[in-house]
Amino acid sequence: EPHVAKFVYDFTEGNKDLKDLLGGKGANLAEMTNLGLPVPPGFTITTEACKVYLDSGEEPPALRDEVSAHLDALEQRMGKKLGQADDPLLVSVRSGAKFSMPGMMDTVLNIGLSDKSVKGLAKQAGDERFAWDSYRRLIQMFGKTVLGVDGELFEDALEKAKETKGVQVDTELDAADLKKLVTAFKKTVRTEAGRDFPQDPREQMDLAIKAVFESWNGDRAKLYRRQERIPGDLGTAVNVCSMVFGNLGPDSGTGVAFTRDPASGHQGVYGDYLQNAQGEDVVAGIRNTVPLAELENIDKASYDQLMQIMETLENHYKDLCDIEFTIERGKLWMLQTRVGKRTAGAAFRIATQLVDQGLIDETEALQRVNGAQLAQLMFPRFDEDARAEQVGRGIAASPGAAVGKAVFDSYTAVKWSRSGEKVILVRRETNPDDLDGMIAAEGILTSRGGKTSHAAVVARGMGKTCVCGAEELEVDTKRRRMIVPGGHVVEEGDVISIDGSSGKVYLGEVPVVPSPVVEYFEGRMHPGADDADELVEAVHRMMAFADRKRRLRVRANADNAEDALRARRFGAQGIGLCRTEHMFLGDRRELVERLILADTEAEREESLKQLLPLQKQDFVELFEAMDGLPVTVRLLDPPLHEFLPDITELSVRVALAESRQEPHENELRLLQAVHRLHEQNPMLGLRGVRLGLVIPGLFTMQVRAIAEAAAERRTAKGDPRAEIMIPLVGTVQELEIVRDEADQVIAEVEAATGTRLKLAIGTMIELPRAALTAGQIAEAAEFFSFGTNDLTQTVWGFSRDDVEASFFTAYLEKGIFGVSPFETIDKDGVGSLVKSAATAGRATRPDLKLGVCGEHGGDPESVHFFHEVGLDYVSCSPFRIPVARLEAGRAAT
Ligand code: PEP
Ligand code: MG
Repeated sequence: EPHVAKFVYDFTEGNKDLKDLLGGKGANLAEMTNLGLPVPPGFTITTEACKVYLDSGEEPPALRDEVSAHLDALEQRMGKKLGQADDPLLVSVRSGAKFSMPGMMDTVLNIGLSDKSVKGLAKQAGDERFAWDSYRRLIQMFGKTVLGVDGELFEDALEKAKETKGVQVDTELDAADLKKLVTAFKKTVRTEAGRDFPQDPREQMDLAIKAVFESWNGDRAKLYRRQERIPGDLGTAVNVCSMVFGNLGPDSGTGVAFTRDPASGHQGVYGDYLQNAQGEDVVAGIRNTVPLAELENIDKASYDQLMQIMETLENHYKDLCDIEFTIERGKLWMLQTRVGKRTAGAAFRIATQLVDQGLIDETEALQRVNGAQLAQLMFPRFDEDARAEQVGRGIAASPGAAVGKAVFDSYTAVKWSRSGEKVILVRRETNPDDLDGMIAAEGILTSRGGKTSHAAVVARGMGKTCVCGAEELEVDTKRRRMIVPGGHVVEEGDVISIDGSSGKVYLGEVPVVPSPVVEYFEGRMHPGADDADELVEAVHRMMAFADRKRRLRVRANADNAEDALRARRFGAQGIGLCRTEHMFLGDRRELVERLILADTEAEREESLKQLLPLQKQDFVELFEAMDGLPVTVRLLDPPLHEFLPDITELSVRVALAESRQEPHENELRLLQAVHRLHEQNPMLGLRGVRLGLVIPGLFTMQVRAIAEAAAERRTAKGDPRAEIMIPLVGTVQELEIVRDEADQVIAEVEAATGTRLKLAIGTMIELPRAALTAGQIAEAAEFFSFGTNDLTQTVWGFSRDDVEASFFTAYLEKGIFGVSPFETIDKDGVGSLVKSAATAGRATRPDLKLGVCGEHGGDPESVHFFHEVGLDYVSCSPFRIPVARLEAGRAAT
């Protein structure tokens, strides 16, 4: 016999684990039914049926019969038929997807009412007003959601009816008023939809079911899914549930409740109740609700029963539940429950509270929180109650809330901040020259560039607030001002506020509140101390759970002692990436420029000789800060042009000098050199190991600095654990050459200082060829660190500096990917290269150490992937370390 799909489940047939099939609402209605709680009987049409409908444009052939069978059963159970003239069974038809999408899809209540059955309902309920009110609600909801009539037409008519009568609220309209409204609504339907409101109850139901299916692909729903990263192909289930009425008089009502406070996690009575009202009235805020505690005075029996049910649900779900209920003439009905949404802070508190109550264990507690929530708790935030004038929006590049005076160049940023001003550095885009200014600024705002632009990456590394790519802002650095949409001009010194979590830009000062969680990680607040609040205590405990569970180690991307020390406070177990190019900027840039442009060996030697002690001192400080922990130092990587003057600027200078017949030999010589080194595609040009191979002495100088620094730390009785990393290797030959030279230098330093240094030498895997030949490369490498920024760039062929600001928005909108592959690792493409390279590398060298140091190292989803493919550690910017620790713990559960 062929397998027959089952498209409809009675509430008695399902359970809470069938969310894929029955949606969240349907699965939980079934669960409550099976717990013996008072749920109005009904059935659920599966997401599978929805998918068939959306794919083919038609309902699956078997569906109609199945619905008929379940409807029959329901009618028998209730002792009345759908829409029966003298005593109608009425049903609601509600959407319910796997993931809650509040208000994004359709619902129709009171299905089964018609010109005939409205009278039967009036008689049965003994309440004519109620019956006509229910009927006008049906036509209104049905007209809007099923027949596509503009909802405002109904609302306007309702308003007008109230006005005519001179009343404020809809409950003051009587049966006669509502009867008139029904006539008006039906006319609206006829003219707007070109058909009559259907009088056949089954037709009402079938059309409503289809409308719910279709609402999965409504604009609102699609937008919400994209934002929440909910896959677009899940479909929604449809719940057909017998109606109970909260609008039957003062002994009826409807409400929402939480088993504990979703903001603080505290246990207690939280919720709202509205007397004599139907479902949507509470959410819509039509009339004022009363606090749930008041229900005890209104209807003590129902209140007591509700409290008991809430306890049952908490113990059963072992989590905060939210609930929708209705009281019909003193009888309590449960309409919905689900594990409730909560604030980030409450998530941490509730998880630890439930552990203390013995309801869940540590492992389960870790599943109740996530890194995104922790990250959210770490940002200073704008006071939500503050009023502020938003003038633009860019990419939320590095979270936080920053307020300061707008400045348009790095020099001013430094100068003003030295005199005690708070500044926001505003640039079209930033480059390494802006580093000082970025450090001095509270936050960085750019009008160009995406999430991996210079501004974004550096700001994230510094834990500094950054909004980038705010294209509506016209940044004019020459005139030191910015024009915002609408034409308002922000001059240098005007205060602005930027929100790196939302990308929003405001005029003026928006008040900021600091994060106690960061105070805790910084060691300025201690759990258990008087000033520590419950949140800090909860975070502290959850971090301990995660640390006990995780297999992945967590290191930091840091290149100075200050960042290293912070990383250590935040729990880093070493440095996974020290980018030495950051040590070549500022005052030292001139030395580097001379090195690059050196004509003779002597000139080159001279600049290297001057750089050596500076480099060495950098490393001494770094190794001291990270004493006893591994420090991976990467040899110089960036394209040469970053150290040279801008080609256009220099050309203009030369041309001017020429026309004025001023001496300009030096400029000319520089210009020629810059021309010689100019590349069309610097990211694919002379950088990384290539630089080390063509500029003699550069890498060996760096290796010597590392070795001498390590030796010095040894002499000082320290425990330096340096590792040397070669960037952008594509073939093992490159690595072998650099390695041989490095080994020689290390041997020299060892001989000269009489110390054994044990410096490991390894490589980054950040080019496809390196990943594909990882087995060979492992012959010459003691460790691999996956550079997933460059690997993503080269595997996709996406310029990491450009794409996010150019076509990624279109890609996200078209659903080509749900999130930038520069943010979350592309498992199928880049990730599979990481996986195969890890396997091949270990096949060659079983004790090969494997890590990742691209931006993905601090991204929650990516951390789980790196755990799964068996890496030893992830490395990320200091501020993301707690998130990585937590997610590594979650990944291991
Ligand atoms: C990488 O490419 O992933 C990496 C860490 O190196 P960088 O970002 O410095 O190019
Ligand atoms: Mg790289």
